[in-house]
Amino acid sequence: MLRKIDLRSDTVTKPTAGMLDAMMNAKVGDDVFGEDETVDALENKLSELFGKEAGLFCPSGTMTNQIAIKCFTQPLDEVICDQTAHVYRYEGGGIAFHSAASVRLLHGERGILTPELIEPEINEPNIHYPNSSLVVLENTVNKGGGACYSLAQIEPIHTLCNIKELKLHLDGARIFNALAATGDKPENYGKYFDGISVCLSKGLGAPVGSVLLGSKEMIKRAVRVRKAFGGGMRQAGFLAAAGIYALDHHVGRLTVDHTHARALAAALGQVKYVASVMPVETNIVIFKIEGNFKAASIVQQFLERGILCTTTGPDTIRMVTHLDISPEMIDSAIENIIHLNPSAHK
Ligand SMILES: *Cc1c(COP(=O)(O)O)cnc(C)c1O
Repeated sequence: MLRKIDLRSDTVTKPTAGMLDAMMNAKVGDDVFGEDETVDALENKLSELFGKEAGLFCPSGTMTNQIAIKCFTQPLDEVICDQTAHVYRYEGGGIAFHSAASVRLLHGERGILTPELIEPEINEPNIHYPNSSLVVLENTVNKGGGACYSLAQIEPIHTLCNIKELKLHLDGARIFNALAATGDKPENYGKYFDGISVCLSKGLGAPVGSVLLGSKEMIKRAVRVRKAFGGGMRQAGFLAAAGIYALDHHVGRLTVDHTHARALAAALGQVKYVASVMPVETNIVIFKIEGNFKAASIVQQFLERGILCTTTGPDTIRMVTHLDISPEMIDSAIENIIHLNPSAHK
């Protein structure tokens, strides 16, 4: 049987035996009553790590982002983010639906914003204009091929937001990948961001869950919003235990995923059917294929060889490395990349 090498996303990982064991042994209670000590432990662990006062465990990163946007805006406000942002593109239009806010889209280099890009887009107070109230950064940038901000790049954005009285939220779905790549310390993040979303179900390998971090006051409001969004969970400690296990066991190994991604990129850079490969900073490889091929057809031909990946446009393909990808799988994927001899399909 052909062994599948699933490079579609870092969300496809299955819990390890150790993680399942931690889940089975979790002490739980009704978290809507505030009685689940494992959920509390996860929220405390992450809020301490990132230097925020409080945390809130939620079912998904979409929910933590949408709750944060709801907490940091009023109807008729405007959210500033990059045009590639997950909060704008991949959250089902939730900003309009939940927060009745508009969105100002910027064009950063691979999704990375700068104070120079943001400042001219902040509206002056004027009844004609939506009220600019929130900037959202994504680290790493998913659609930017896993590009990351260093804290040094974030600091001046924080300063600008402070001066202009805008809130700053981090979509940190892959924040641990960014930390592994930059060497920055998580505790410094709390100083710059009003809200931080951390996903446990991406590179960290937990089956479910994200945590929203913020001030005590903000999280108090976020608990109400989560309830209204239908995200209050009962004996959620079984899931929170997977998150704690992931933080204890799966953070240090993220550099392995980054090494694997670089190896894939190096192979892709050598073959004729690939026009260019985005620079690889973390665990995402996005590449553009030559004009006489179609991305969908190349993805299909990889699939026939047991390699799963996805298109991100008519001529771009994405591969993502993660916990369930072994060095042998990378070797096998590289063999296939090098030997694939696609026929033109246009
Ligand atoms: C995956 C992801 C999220 C959250 O997604 P969920 O599937 O809702 O957990 C948020 N932001 C980015 C950049 C992501 O890649």
